Amino acid sequence: MVRRALGLFSGGLDSILAVKILQEQGIKVTAISFVTPFFSSKKAEASAEMLEIPIIVKDITEKHLEMLLNPKHGYGSTMNPCIDCHTLMLKVAGGIMEERGFDFIFTGEVLGERPMSQNKTALHIVAKESGYKDSILRPLSAKLLPETEPEKTKKVKRSGLLEVSGRQRKKQLEMAERYGIRDIPTPAGGCLLTDPGFSGRLKDLLREKEKPSVRDIELLKAGRHVRLDKNNKIIIGRNETDNKILAKTENREYLLLAPHGVKGPYCMIPRRLDGELLDKAIKMCASYCDALEGKEVMFRNMEKQEKRRYKTAFSKSNRPKKFIGVV
Ligand code: SF4
Repeated sequence: MVRRALGLFSGGLDSILAVKILQEQGIKVTAISFVTPFFSSKKAEASAEMLEIPIIVKDITEKHLEMLLNPKHGYGSTMNPCIDCHTLMLKVAGGIMEERGFDFIFTGEVLGERPMSQNKTALHIVAKESGYKDSILRPLSAKLLPETEPEKTKKVKRSGLLEVSGRQRKKQLEMAERYGIRDIPTPAGGCLLTDPGFSGRLKDLLREKEKPSVRDIELLKAGRHVRLDKNNKIIIGRNETDNKILAKTENREYLLLAPHGVKGPYCMIPRRLDGELLDKAIKMCASYCDALEGKEVMFRNMEKQEKRRYKTAFSKSNRPKKFIGVV
């Protein structure tokens, strides 16, 4: 009987090799990749296409956000709750394994490759807390780990599994050569929660809001973020790409302003601003426009095309001294 395995698949080299190892044993492999505002499945989809294997793409935004606000095992060096994140992914994959009748789950994890999240204890914790401990195989490091149920029940031959460990990629590169994998994907990265700049903005957002929305998080991806006070910040586009992102990101709390008659950034300012704070915000936005010192800069509301114009004089000295996070 053909065995079917479901693999957590980032699209990076390790996950590709895990697929190849199981395919060598005649196991039919399906990949699963996850989507949240912090990472996408694009790379996984491209690698699955290259390997000609089916892929399930699962949006776990809601559960991931809930976990992110209070991760049982805390964060890594930035806002990355890797142990809880892996646990969640394995839990979701385990549910799909049961629903769709896969024989087991596998991952491309390598013992010791990431000291915090791929040491023996961490691998054990995520497997146990996912609820599917007995069904999780790590083909690349299996011989260094306790025998799993798929091995005990001969669904997989332990002799065909590997004992790779550590951060050196020598063994993986040799295997890539042997399997004829020419376009070796760059090591998985791409998770915004490991980006210090993004993490700084996220931390700041969490100080302001206990439960941020997906829209709040989307806004963290573009622009210079400048805090005006405890409850208010503005976002100033840094370039055309930022302007486009800001223009596309609807947000009930913010007005999107664009300079009128001069070149300059799009800005998002809280709708509730008035008085001195509004004046300060507009001055900051204007300070990035292409105007002569002292010349009037005007902004219009891009959403409603309303009559109201926001005017101030251009001065570079109004540029904010400090941004939220690293920009
Ligand atoms: S790097 Fe990001 S996607 Fe990967 S486990 Fe950590 S939090 Fe999750």
